[in-house]
Amino acid sequence: MSHHYLLPEISQPGKIGCSLPSLDVPAAELPPKELLRQELELPEVSEVEIIRYFTALSKLNYSADTGFYPLGSCTMKYNPKWHEDIAKLAGFTSIHPLQLEESVQGALQLMFELQEYLAEITGMDATSLVPIAGAHGEFAGLLMVRAYHQDRQDKARRKILLTDSSHGTNPASAVMCGFDIGVVASDSQGNVDMKSLDAMMNEEVAALTLTMPTTLGLFDPRILGISQVVHERGGLLGADGANLNAFLGQVKFGELGYDYVQLNLHKTFSTPHGGGGPGSGPVCVKESLSDFLPSPLVTENNGMYKFMSPAKSIGRIANFYGNFGVMCKAYAYIRSLGASGLREVSENAVLSANYLKEKLKPYYHLPYNRTCMHEVVFSGRRQKAEGVRTLDIAKRLLDYGLHPPTIYFPLLVDEALMIEPTETESKQTLDAFVEAMKEIARDARENPDILHTAPHNTPVRRLDDVRAARNPDLRWQMGD
Ligand SMILES: *Cc1c(COP(=O)(O)O)cnc(C)c1O
Repeated sequence: MSHHYLLPEISQPGKIGCSLPSLDVPAAELPPKELLRQELELPEVSEVEIIRYFTALSKLNYSADTGFYPLGSCTMKYNPKWHEDIAKLAGFTSIHPLQLEESVQGALQLMFELQEYLAEITGMDATSLVPIAGAHGEFAGLLMVRAYHQDRQDKARRKILLTDSSHGTNPASAVMCGFDIGVVASDSQGNVDMKSLDAMMNEEVAALTLTMPTTLGLFDPRILGISQVVHERGGLLGADGANLNAFLGQVKFGELGYDYVQLNLHKTFSTPHGGGGPGSGPVCVKESLSDFLPSPLVTENNGMYKFMSPAKSIGRIANFYGNFGVMCKAYAYIRSLGASGLREVSENAVLSANYLKEKLKPYYHLPYNRTCMHEVVFSGRRQKAEGVRTLDIAKRLLDYGLHPPTIYFPLLVDEALMIEPTETESKQTLDAFVEAMKEIARDARENPDILHTAPHNTPVRRLDDVRAARNPDLRWQMGD
């Protein structure tokens, strides 16, 4: 790391960043001695130095606002700044969750209309905006599945089926809900293996969680058949809706036979994310599950908006009403684009991914050679044979000033590279990425060492990920 980023380098005893004015009120008494510290080990720096220090740190951040960010499954699209202005309006930020409903009708109206829009977009009957992340929405969906079967006295259904391409949160959510897990295989085309599903779908299965499009970036054309098998045998069909960016205005989960879906407003509906939030993971459900939705929902009666709790609600799963600021941005996004704009989002997201697929196919192995949806999964198999790992490819992209795609996920693709360009990138940006990937493929053959030792141009070189996770060093200490 270069010196500008290290406080100890600029700290010198006696340097002062700001001077306090002399006391113009009576001095208060100090707390008892045992509560007082003799030394406070803080860096001693001047004002300009601390400003430069933090400004330099801020420039180390990479984001969708600084460059191309094709992180598969994450939908790192550009988020219009104007939506931040909407979310910052005093009428939204200066209200308190304990205020009387009569005094916050505008906020409730926004929530009510967002519930309706999301139900319309997904082809469902009702929505709860409460969950505060995608994984939290999955968890809420599974709590509803459990409550639904219990309500029907169907006690044998202890198992959730997933596919081998599932996102890691899918099994995690199911286990946290107390379910056992069964993994349905994918076939050679990347679709659900119907024989595997047939063998596993029995009276112990509460639901099948099936991401659509799948985490391979593919639409499973047999989804209606899958839905039929699951329902005929008494199960429910749940979607992990994190990939909705491919579907907006094109296909509805409800029409594909799904009973519930969780959405990631911070992905599809334009909230900057990464680094831990805030997020929002609403659940949209068919009529059969609507009584179980997490509370509260917003209802409308004669132009008055009110909170209510569904009859058999799984209860409260977050404090108050969810992440309201994220809802404001999603609402602004939906209203500003309208139905035709949303449709265009998906068309362009899918077009961008297929463009990259065709351009990169000659250089990287494409395990599923078919039209993809909003993202495309390559394998670094060829480069691996040349002694270059997918991790090396990702690290080398950093030298080009590009954020790497998702790597080593989905797990069923060897050396996976999962690229999601999103609809907000220009053809020039996509072409620049293609050029970088082409050069990297050439270096893998001709100059592999430059990949093994990458990145070369970043403030931090290759990290020891394992050590960083096991022994995180998060706190500056004098003398470090
Ligand atoms: C992002 C993602 C999730 C988890 O969403 P969070 O909001 O990060 O909890 C789940 N499934 C898929 C497919 C995802 O891409």
